[in-house]
Amino acid sequence: MFPIQSIRADFPILAQRIHNNPLVYFDNGATTQKPQCVIDAIVDSYTRTNSNIHRGIHSLSQCSTDLYEQARERVRKFINAPHGREIIFTKGVTESINLLAWSFGEKFIHEGDEIIVSTMEHHSNLVPWQMLCERKNAKLRFIPFFENGELDIECFKTLLNERTKLVSVTHISNTLGTVNPIKQIIDLAHAQGVPVCIDGAQSVQHTAIDVQALDCDFFAFSGHKIYAPTGIGVLWGKEQWLNDLPPYQGGGGMIKTVTLAHTDFNEIPFRFEAGTPDYVDAHALGVALEYVQSIGITGIEQHETELLNHATKRLQEIDAVRIIGTAAHKSGAISFVVNNAHPADIGMILDKKGIAIRTGTHCTEPVMQFYNIPATARVSFAMYNTLDEVDFFADTLRKVVRMF
Ligand code: PLP
Repeated sequence: MFPIQSIRADFPILAQRIHNNPLVYFDNGATTQKPQCVIDAIVDSYTRTNSNIHRGIHSLSQCSTDLYEQARERVRKFINAPHGREIIFTKGVTESINLLAWSFGEKFIHEGDEIIVSTMEHHSNLVPWQMLCERKNAKLRFIPFFENGELDIECFKTLLNERTKLVSVTHISNTLGTVNPIKQIIDLAHAQGVPVCIDGAQSVQHTAIDVQALDCDFFAFSGHKIYAPTGIGVLWGKEQWLNDLPPYQGGGGMIKTVTLAHTDFNEIPFRFEAGTPDYVDAHALGVALEYVQSIGITGIEQHETELLNHATKRLQEIDAVRIIGTAAHKSGAISFVVNNAHPADIGMILDKKGIAIRTGTHCTEPVMQFYNIPATARVSFAMYNTLDEVDFFADTLRKVVRMF
């Protein structure tokens, strides 16, 4: 039995009422709520251990440094990375991909080179590559997807060629919920000697990640989408790649020695962590990952699959609702549109009943352009959601639809 009641009790925000209704929080794709242990970790850090890391000899600084490095080790374990030094703390996926695009681009991308992304990417795995291609006069190429939201892998095979220098794709689409066949993509790219970056923003909280089994070259995720605070995230990269990449930002902590004329850079991962890192939130991220592990990602995945399947069935029963993204393998999120109603109106009315959903383009405007729609409504699930909440949402939506 999945311990849903004790899990819900761990998240204080869920006890709230919104417009005098119990909060139904279905906006987890945007950000997840935080368990008490994560909130306590932040409070405890500022109450007992706060001090800047890596540079102090005094006790607090050492304690703070230990917590930061312990968090790195927890991340390493969580994604089964071979070495802690391959874990770079960033602000989140956006910064992770900007770091990679700048740094990898600086060293390895030249005029006429090609980078492949898909047409379902979040803007943060699209715009940095566009900027790089513009800077270097390189070409961005796109894996298209079918009407059902599945990537066209046959087309991907034809895109790979001797000019391809990198592939960067999302594991799970934040808009369509599609689980992409990333292992196949990685293997196909590697067969041509091309490295692959995986955007794990929507996967790490829903399914087990083993970067060694995947054999990807880079993997990025954001803490706030896996029950940790905002402002902390990860870029993991294979050591041989990271050792070869130039630093992204200059400043304190990333140096070995500095003269007025020259700087020798520090080793990985510090070379990529210029300035005072967000050590408090890194520690809280480690606590969040331990929390997820204590519940078990397999149980979480099963529970969330049940939620997704049930919500899909209930939405399909409403004639005026069209689900956007009907891939065979989905996780996390369901997008939909309603005949004769703008998603924003749907979202506003549901909010009056305490149901939080997201409406808009979900930072995937090309996906909206593909379906020729201005926006979608999106429900996205986390481990603390229940089947009763799905039913309440579906019953309420049915009534709302009748109003239009
Ligand atoms: N990639 C995907 C698939 C996402 O869903 C998101 C956020 O929604 C991001 C990247 C960007 O994450 P962040 O805003 O935490 O940097």
